[in-house]
Order: sequence, then structure tokens, then C-alpha cells
Amino acid sequence: MNRRVRVRFAPSPTGPLHMGGVRTAMFNYLFAKQNGGDFLLRIEDTDQKRFVPGAEDYIMEALAWCGMSFDEGIREGGKFGPYRQSERKDIYIKYAQQLLDTKQAYYAFDTPEALEDMRTRLENEKSSVRQYNAVTRSGMKNSYTMSDDEVKQQIASGEPYVIRFAMPENENVTMNDLIRGEIIVNTQELDDKVLFKSSDGLPTYHLANIVDDHLMEISHVIRGEEWLPSLPLHVLLYRAFGWTETMPQFAHLPLLLKPDGKGKLSKRDGDRLGFPVFPLAWKDPETGEFSSGYRESGYLPEAFVNMLALLGWNPGTEQEIFSMSELIEAFNMSKISKAGAKFSVDKAKWFNQHYIKNCADSVLADYFKPILAQHQVDVCDDYLLKVVPHVKERVVLIPDFWEQAAFFFQTPMEYNPNSIKKHWKEDTAAMLAGVKSVLESVSEADFSTHNTEERVKQYISDNALNMGKVLNPLRLVLTGTGGGPHLFDIVSVIGKDETLKRIDLGLEKIV
Ligand code: GLU
Repeated sequence: MNRRVRVRFAPSPTGPLHMGGVRTAMFNYLFAKQNGGDFLLRIEDTDQKRFVPGAEDYIMEALAWCGMSFDEGIREGGKFGPYRQSERKDIYIKYAQQLLDTKQAYYAFDTPEALEDMRTRLENEKSSVRQYNAVTRSGMKNSYTMSDDEVKQQIASGEPYVIRFAMPENENVTMNDLIRGEIIVNTQELDDKVLFKSSDGLPTYHLANIVDDHLMEISHVIRGEEWLPSLPLHVLLYRAFGWTETMPQFAHLPLLLKPDGKGKLSKRDGDRLGFPVFPLAWKDPETGEFSSGYRESGYLPEAFVNMLALLGWNPGTEQEIFSMSELIEAFNMSKISKAGAKFSVDKAKWFNQHYIKNCADSVLADYFKPILAQHQVDVCDDYLLKVVPHVKERVVLIPDFWEQAAFFFQTPMEYNPNSIKKHWKEDTAAMLAGVKSVLESVSEADFSTHNTEERVKQYISDNALNMGKVLNPLRLVLTGTGGGPHLFDIVSVIGKDETLKRIDLGLEKIV
């Protein structure tokens, strides 16, 4: 019988979610939805020292912004809960005990100093082994070197301890990764990882992660490549618990690389090259440090999702534009690359421009309203909806809207000196006065792009004038600058009164 697909996104709430984390969540989501399975959120907060307030909410808000929702999680609930590991404390002790009982884990009482001494000693001896493992554990303070009574006594006296996994000595562990294929690692390269700490009564990531994936019936673990080195331990833990039969399948996603391909994409790269590495802006509650987000920088969630999906995955065709539902359909684990994926800010912008261009005017209008409010511009929806179609092709990021469209909302008070120099000649004022009188004769009801254009062009040809010599200064007085949408679209949107007013103002101010 085929197993139900159940995948989880399992972030640790240690700060804002990096865009790589969003991609991990997304690939889990796509895989779950494609297979009619479940997508879970599990908060891995067993490392209490690294807990950051607000991070959980941030993670959920970021994924909701991207259009992903969970079937089970800390807000949604579900029959495999609780979904926050700190609330599952009692569960893990039992499993740590199971490993102790079967001699696959053991107590260790070494102080941090003793561990440091061990490392220094091994280093001085130029030993090929530098870690706590089958070779070195015999020289340390643990269940192997102490009698049962001594161990019991130490625990009873409240001495802090950890429970370590007894890594088998010199064994080849064979693993399978859905992206990387078969991987074999010898246990000599691995150490006796700590599974549980008495100091806080909490399991470490490894124990909690395996126990929860098992209890939550996770079928596939899809996570970042940085977890690949933990895979042998995880596979051995499944074996130690006797859960090999139901062990999930694993897929480790390629890293997101800096634009030059040299190393992992970090916040510093973003700061240096001017792009966010987080989906939403974040202010560190302790340091107050601010990090920009894609949302606040003016990216549409559809563009962000589309861009991320193609970092490390490809559809095997030339298609680049994918909605979330198209991604669900097209996603295929076998098309995930092993090699790291280079991030490109130009590509991110290209996607954004595409989605803005294709966005419904009314939706875009809602994106633009806060920008207008920032500039104390108060306009009715009808007017804004007239402007939007004329500028949407020119906006790459939402805040560009102001630069592209300010003149639709404000009479220019200054004129670009270069444009003046280029377009304002001796005969300009007379020609614009002529344009004004022509436009004055067009009724307000007829003040359309077509009518105004026809009349002005008629005036130009009747008087054998040069088109550019008339239209360029007209644009200058209407917009304060050069460039922008079709001139007569501007004329018709701002309307008759405003057009005439701006011509007068230009004639008065530009000399
Ligand atoms: N808590 C781990 C993280 O923060 C989860 C790793 C995993 O998916 O197993 O990425």
C-alpha cells in the first residue's frame, strides 16, 4: 500500500526566515499538494538559548504572504500535536530511555573543561580522531568507564549529565537521498552526538527531530543541504529505535548561492548588493538591527514565489512563469539539482516586473495606495484606476510607482534643467500658447487621448511646426521632466483644467 504523503516544515524560531528557508517550505508544500498529502508546521524550539520572540509569528506570516497554508501546525492544531517541541518535553524522555535500555545510548558527565582537555590532548597527540566516539569515550567520564552504581549516584546527586548516542565503530552506513542518490559514510567520521541534556531536561535537535518525524508519520523529509551531514546519525537513530520500515525518504535541497556563485547567500550579500534575503522586513528584538524584506521592498508574493521555485529546480522545459498552482502541477523532485543555485537580483526584478505588468489594475491600485499616503496624496479610487494602466509597465518594484507617476497627482513645481536646456527654445512659448488655445476649444467631455492628440497634431501640421519641438516642451510643462507614458494619455487623465493650468505655469516659470 502506498504511504500517505506527509511532509513537515520544521524551522527553529531563532530569527527571521531566510529566503532559503522559504524555498524549503515551498518545496515541501508543492510536494504535499501535488500528492494530495499533508503539509505540517513543526516548531523546533528545543534550543531555548537561541529562541527569539516574534520569530514564530514571522515564519507563519511569511509563508501566508507567499500563499502557503498548513494542514497541521501550532495554529491549525491536528491529531499529531502538540506541534511545538517545547510542549512535547515528556515524550522525548521515554525515547531517550529506550536507547539507554538497549545500550545504544549512554550517560556522560564530562564538564566543558574535560571536553576541551580531550580535544587539546588529541590535537597534541596528532591523533586522527578528534571527537567523542567509540575510540575516545573510554577515556572520559561516562557509563562505559563508570559502574552502574556510580552512574546512579551521580544522577541522584543532581550532577548534570547528557545522554549520548553510542555511534557504532567502523561501520559503513548506506543512505539514499532522492536528489543525490546513494551515499555511504563510515561511522568513524561521526561522533557520539548528544541526544539529551539534563540541564534543561530537553532533547537536542537530533533526538526530537527523529522522534517527531516518526510519531507524526512523516513520509518525506525535504530540507536544506546543511542537514546532509546529520543524515547518517538520523538513519542510525531510526535503526536504533527499530523504525527502519517506516523511515521517511530524504531529499536535501541545494544551497542558495551568492550572485557570483561563490558561497552561501547571506544577509551581508544582500546588504552589500542591495536586495533582501528575508521575505518580510524584520527588526531584531534585541539589537534593534533592521533587515529589509521582499514584501516591504515592493515585490509581489507571486514573483517572489516564482523566482524562488526556480532556484534549484527546473521544469525541464523553457517555461519560466509559474503560478503556485502551476508549480504544484509541474513540480518534480527528480528535477531538483544537486549543485547550488545562484541567486540573481536582476532575475528577481524581472519576475516582479512581469507580475506587476500582468496584475489587475485594482489590485495594483491597492499596492500603490500606501505610497500615495506617504506623500500625503489623497485621491479617489476612480482617478487612481485611470493612472494605473499607464504606469504599470514602468514599475519594477512597487515604490517605483511614485517616481513614475507623481505628476499625475501633483502639479510640477520644478522642471528638469536638462530637459529645459534641450527642449525650451525661443519659439517654444508661442507654440505652447497655441497648443493651449487649441486645447481650450476641446470640451471637457471630449478631452480624450484620441481627441486631444488629433487636435494638437492638427495644429502642428496646420502651422508647419516640428512635432518634437512642440510635444517635448508640452511634456516638460505637464510632467516636470522628460519620459513617461504616452503624452496624450497624460493630458486626458489629468484633464482639461489641470492641463491648461500646467501650460500656464510652465510659460510663467520657464524663461
Ligand atoms: N530545525 C531544523 C532547521 O531549523 C530542521 C531541519 C530538518 O528539517 O530536519 O532547519
